[in-house]
Amino acid sequence: MPESAGGAGASVRTQVLVEEELAAGDAAVPFAMAGPKALGLALLELGSATQRDRILRTFVDDPTRVGAVAWSEPRPSAEPGFSTTARQDGDAWILDGEKAYVIDAGRASTYVVFAQIDRSAGWSGFGAFLVDAATAGLTVGARAVTLGLDAAHFGSLKLAGVRAERLETADVVRATLRFFARVSLTVAARAVGLARAAFDTTHAFTAERKAFGKPIGHFQAVAFNLVDRLVDVDSARGLVWRAAWTLDTHGDDDAAVLSHCSEAAAEALEAVQRCGADAVQLHGGAGFVRDYVVEKYMRDSKQLALCAPTVATNDALFAAISLGQPLDGALLPTPDIQPIFT
Ligand SMILES: Cc1cc2nc3c(=O)[nH]c(=O)nc-3n(C[C@H](O)[C@H](O)[C@H](O)COP(=O)(O)OP(=O)(O)OC[C@H]3O[C@@H](n4cnc5c(N)ncnc54)[C@H](O)[C@@H]3O)c2cc1C
Repeated sequence: MPESAGGAGASVRTQVLVEEELAAGDAAVPFAMAGPKALGLALLELGSATQRDRILRTFVDDPTRVGAVAWSEPRPSAEPGFSTTARQDGDAWILDGEKAYVIDAGRASTYVVFAQIDRSAGWSGFGAFLVDAATAGLTVGARAVTLGLDAAHFGSLKLAGVRAERLETADVVRATLRFFARVSLTVAARAVGLARAAFDTTHAFTAERKAFGKPIGHFQAVAFNLVDRLVDVDSARGLVWRAAWTLDTHGDDDAAVLSHCSEAAAEALEAVQRCGADAVQLHGGAGFVRDYVVEKYMRDSKQLALCAPTVATNDALFAAISLGQPLDGALLPTPDIQPIFT
């Protein structure tokens, strides 16, 4: 968190190191910990300096507080835009709708909720809103049972006439793309930690497990696989560090920030799935029983690849920027947003 809000003001480079280490222990932990997390990233890009420092200070004062961001929806809107709506009422805004797959739904004290303001403006007619968890009209669904990331808590939100404060941003589309670039980089750093853990566990297992009198890691088919996965870990980490450096040193350069963050995530989310799947494969029968941790690595790696922006969305964003193509509708983690860029 920024020093102006009472935080340590650590660099993004420091943050990605911490994310990797936490995820190497358990990829769900950085999702499950207390703190502002994605809400902090949303405030950084979408809020005014006053809103950002006011809200983030509450997390500095009470480290048990949890923040959350509600973007995804259970059902797509019939028209471009969110189905969740926001209408102005004096200084406040009133939100109605449903959100899904929200990390920390029910645990959070404060939410950032994305909602449609102007239906006729399609995907450029949305805004981001601060909602206190105690506000009347906000209800939380049951905790979802998920494929992986067992310690993390996913749920849904229903908003019926919920009073909210709008985040003050000059350009909501640009700010949201930058918010998702930061989210992508955070998830990519976690993917590096998980990929590393899967590789290290598998490397140790293949040095110990023997066939025909020698460790299975000494057979070329296994050794080449191990080396490929080590290249995966190191190359994903290199891209994560470069993107963190870009944010620290050229943070206002949108094209560099978006392309470096999306490239890092596109690579890390593929790399972690290969490391998770091959960890199970090289453990043989030990891979598919729950006595060994590698089946959890595989489940967690698939779930990481479904974070917003998904691996497909990161691929599309990176391809569009690096090939000089016009930005198109695949670039926010939702379909059908062409009107934003035209
Ligand atoms: C660990 C984790 C944490 C999450 N945290 C949150 C959270 O805190 N808040 C929140 O709101 N949501 C959260 N989500 C949900 C996440 O935002 C969604 O899973 C993700 O955006 C996919 O959205 P969707 O289910 O609407 O899929 P859809 O948009 O329906 O996409 C389905 C599939 O199609 C692909 N696809 C969609 N559009 C395109 C396109 N234009 N081009 C190519 N492929 C495309 C997607 O990549 C995906 O594979 C989280 C998910 C995970 C796994």
